[in-house]
Amino acid sequence: MKIIESVLEMQQISSRARGEGKRIALVPTMGFLHAGHGSLMEEGRRRSDLLVTSIFVNPTQFGAGEDFDSYPRDLERDLAVAAKAGVDLIFAPRAREMYPEGYQTWVDVEKLTLPLCGASRPGHFRGVTTVVCKLFGIVQPTFALFGKKDFQQLAVIRRMTADLNLPVEIVGMPIVREADGLAMSSRNSYLSPEDRVNALCLSRALGAVTAAYRKGERDVAALEALARGEIASVAGAVIDYLEFRHSGSLEMQARADDATLLAMAVKIGTTRLIDNCVLGDDEDLLSRPVDPPN
Ligand code: AMP
Repeated sequence: MKIIESVLEMQQISSRARGEGKRIALVPTMGFLHAGHGSLMEEGRRRSDLLVTSIFVNPTQFGAGEDFDSYPRDLERDLAVAAKAGVDLIFAPRAREMYPEGYQTWVDVEKLTLPLCGASRPGHFRGVTTVVCKLFGIVQPTFALFGKKDFQQLAVIRRMTADLNLPVEIVGMPIVREADGLAMSSRNSYLSPEDRVNALCLSRALGAVTAAYRKGERDVAALEALARGEIASVAGAVIDYLEFRHSGSLEMQARADDATLLAMAVKIGTTRLIDNCVLGDDEDLLSRPVDPPN
């Protein structure tokens, strides 16, 4: 496995590979890799001849006062996870090469970025779409893999790729969870032992809503009350947003159906966590142990 820092070198390797008819898969990440990232890499491995994982903590998608400086970084560990998943190349550019002096070009998806994380993190998606568009230009992937953990991000990237006619197939992958239901995230490393227990209220809320939906409840207000009740039962959990929207358009819905997305961002102590589910999906959020394993 080779580590490449230079944009030009990455571009040259990719151009050569494409010229030889190779299929390239790209898994964009911000590092501090876990099994969620690993699942994207494994699918990328299956689909490609050249598997590239980018590791880049992208400064332009962090707002003022967010955790850019403290975002967890551990390149040694990342290399081990990536090697295990069969990654061929790690692309880890420097911020000053991605955004040199005089940089002034941005990609902005207008509507899908307005609600949910877009409302609470102004400018976040502009940073995401810009860096992903740049990565597509550099790595020239046939496939790019993204997790449904960041559901809105996946929707926004699909839209950008279609709108800009980018020749990349976007692959969305299921959320990988810890045994007790917590969605894996690099930011889980911020959680104190107490926070870690409290953080289970997110997946519990998803489980409660899914159970009620499967029993026939279709009224969004009733489903929302259930979810909010689960979060409210935990002291120190503060909802940033908790909304039911159509999983394609991200428009609000009053009646739930199989395409309804429940998306939430909740602060546990000082850590902001996101999670979601689509009500018609058969993800099993209900058969999880309630207490975290010791
Ligand atoms: P990040 O490093 O957090 O920017 O994530 C890089 C990619 O991994 C994104 O496409 C995420 O959606 C995806 N990802 C992160 N956590 C998970 C998870 N628990 N399950 C599946 N995909 C994930």
